Amino acid sequence: MKPLIVSGIKPSGILHIGNYLGMIKQAVDLQNSDKYSYFYFIADLHSLTTKYDPKEKSKEVMEAAIDLLSAGIDPKKSALFVQSHILEHANLAWIFNTITSMGQLERMVEYKEKVADGQTPNAGLFDYPVLMAADILIYKAQKVPVGEDQRQHLELARDIARSFNKRFGKTFPEPAGVYTKALRVMSLSDPKKKMSKTAPAGCLYLSDSPKKIKEKINTAVTDSHKEVGYDPENRPGISNLINIYAEFSGTSPEAAVKQFKGASYKEFKAAVGELVALKLQDTQERKANLEKDKKEVLRILENGAETARPIAKKTLEEVKSRVGLI
Ligand code: ATP
Ligand code: MG
Repeated sequence: MKPLIVSGIKPSGILHIGNYLGMIKQAVDLQNSDKYSYFYFIADLHSLTTKYDPKEKSKEVMEAAIDLLSAGIDPKKSALFVQSHILEHANLAWIFNTITSMGQLERMVEYKEKVADGQTPNAGLFDYPVLMAADILIYKAQKVPVGEDQRQHLELARDIARSFNKRFGKTFPEPAGVYTKALRVMSLSDPKKKMSKTAPAGCLYLSDSPKKIKEKINTAVTDSHKEVGYDPENRPGISNLINIYAEFSGTSPEAAVKQFKGASYKEFKAAVGELVALKLQDTQERKANLEKDKKEVLRILENGAETARPIAKKTLEEVKSRVGLI
């Protein structure tokens, strides 16, 4: 089997362009090279760690699957499945819990941020990075496309692989992150924070209509400078729009700034809105079609699980034997 790439996304709200530029777009690009096998999963177990409505959850899982497929994940090339359909993820996470210290988890910035944002800190939220390590290592994945915000969690997955190997014998490769230049896409309403499904006010959704996209970009928080300029530290709002423009048009932020030299914010924002609306058009058309064929989506998820399950089972058996379970 070819080396494996694994990526996950939480069904915790509608997908936004941060998810697209940070993870999905690179995942689609990687899928289209022939060097790797690809596993993409809907992280439904992770999504139970933050507030949710049980009546909405199954819809959110389906929506995440439809969003990934419409953004270009190709079930002929990649396995797309639901995390909870492969019981081995949670089982391996338990074993990893026993080799992870409280201190390692207490250092996790995402946990601290979510708690500071008012989330009730349940034990699952605290333990999230250990389940994430299991999601990756259960397939012995070598590459993991993630947004910059997941760098620390991925480091922990590498630490867990290393400690496991050291204590029980070489079992896991250390997975490497694959990051885009887009780094993190920031919130449109509060550009010092990253765009997050759990903070809808600042999100530009993949499903927003062209009109909505233009409106949201037009009213994105920037600063009082007169000219377009790139300075993420001091001018996060306008720099975020430059990043978005550069990623969607396949240029660098510097080239984008040059292109808009002398343009007003209003003109620049109009151009960003036009571009994003245009680039999301195909995705939105595919989405409308898939929404009419939920049976097909379920079939794809089942097939994906059948591809992933034997590998997960084999790893868990190996791990159980290494740690001495009968
Ligand atoms: P939540 O608020 O529930 O954590 P989220 O918007 O952060 O949701 P996740 O499902 O946690 O989305 O992340 C899915 C993928 O998208 C991950 O690879 C993550 O790194 C990436 N990602 C999330 N937000 C951004 C962002 N603002 N910029 C770039 N990548 C992002
Ligand atoms: Mg997140």
